[in-house]
Amino acid sequence: MRKPKIVVLGAGYGGLMTVTRLQKALGQDEANIVLVNKNDYHYETTWLHEASAGTLHHDRVRYDIDSVINRSKVEFIRAEVEDIKTDEKKVVLNTGEIDYDYLVFALGGESETFGIEGLKEHAFTISNVNAARQIREHIDYQFATYAMETEKKDERLTIVVGGAGFTGIEFLGEITNRVPELCREYDIDYSKVRIYCVEAAPMVLPGFDPELVKYAVAHLEKKGVEFKIGTAIKGATPEGIKVAKGEDETEEIKAGTVVWAAGVRGSSVIEKSGIENMRARVKVNPDLRAPGHDNIFVIGDSSLIINEEINRPYPPTAQIAMQQGEVCARNLVKLIKGSEDALETFTPDIKGTVCSLGDDDAIGVVFGKKVTGTKASFMKKMVDNRALYMIGGPSLVLKKGKFNVL
Ligand SMILES: Cc1cc2nc3c(=O)[nH]c(=O)nc-3n(C[C@H](O)[C@H](O)[C@H](O)COP(=O)(O)OP(=O)(O)OC[C@H]3O[C@@H](n4cnc5c(N)ncnc54)[C@H](O)[C@@H]3O)c2cc1C
Repeated sequence: MRKPKIVVLGAGYGGLMTVTRLQKALGQDEANIVLVNKNDYHYETTWLHEASAGTLHHDRVRYDIDSVINRSKVEFIRAEVEDIKTDEKKVVLNTGEIDYDYLVFALGGESETFGIEGLKEHAFTISNVNAARQIREHIDYQFATYAMETEKKDERLTIVVGGAGFTGIEFLGEITNRVPELCREYDIDYSKVRIYCVEAAPMVLPGFDPELVKYAVAHLEKKGVEFKIGTAIKGATPEGIKVAKGEDETEEIKAGTVVWAAGVRGSSVIEKSGIENMRARVKVNPDLRAPGHDNIFVIGDSSLIINEEINRPYPPTAQIAMQQGEVCARNLVKLIKGSEDALETFTPDIKGTVCSLGDDDAIGVVFGKKVTGTKASFMKKMVDNRALYMIGGPSLVLKKGKFNVL
């Protein structure tokens, strides 16, 4: 009998969680499992702000996919996904086409620039290992060039972070730790460096407890961050950014580095595929399948799930992507084994959220309790280690874990 073929797209949190659970639950004779990813490594997206600031080497944030998959049960294809032909049950890769019986779409998200002029061309985004490496190198280059040039351009040492959400704040926590090191390395006066956080919304870290937000802002301001809250970025240029000033005017902030960290949308492959979506995110059925596509599951940042309590979408997180991966795998096993039971409904189980403010400080709510300082920083590292454990067990934690917990 022909074995059903499950194709999982993306080896991020959602995709790897699905594959590692499937390889345990299904025998070699029950299904063909295929994993497709553009690199032969997985990266911890939630650690990319550290690699971008240069406080953690980029090799520390990634590991070989081979080290966590069972090659006797899972075929790995290194390729870029370009499109899905849902009516033919085929995935278009840059290397050719593959067919599927069941598809798991877990290609993560992409940066949302809201059509702001020049952002795509002149701002960096913390989106993958290559982008993180480029941001780190660029900031280093600005400091090195400043040290060399006879006519000093102070704006080289200005760093603008667009967005005061989770990613923006975590990056600011790291870069404010890295800048003093850079100043020492390149003999630059620290007072020449400016670090701005520009946010259009009237608040920092929307959805976070106000007391914790106050703590985070005070901590970052002490480390030199200037917040411009309620200030919309209107455009980016090779020289910096333009921000709204009053009704129709704009003001320029000259900056050698602009990092855009203000929005996430789903994968552009979803938009191409014709699967119904909103900003490339699919409002999935309770069992995580795409409406109208009984053989396609969408998980992680490309899925959209509504928090019924506040009638708003859950923010896309690794925590949710991993939990979805587990449910998706169990539902696939039911379908493959022809179980009579109904497919499982996905409900996020939010255990807490911790936002780091550098290696040594953080804020968060864990099991309903507010935490700050070293205690929160310790919790953050435990959360990071847990993600490794869930996918690769204790050996992966030993290889890649964060043990500088005190
Ligand atoms: C700096 C930063 C800090 C964050 N901190 C936290 C945090 O503390 N807690 C939290 O819960 N969440 C955090 N998040 C959000 C979290 O990282 C995402 O929600 C999570 O990574 C989504 O998981 P995913 O499986 O959907 O996608 P990802 O983990 O991003 O994986 C997608 C995979 O698909 C691959 N891929 C993409 N496109 C293609 C293609 N066309 N072809 C082939 N392969 C492709 C990618 O290479 C990648 O391996 C943070 C995000 C950032 C950027």
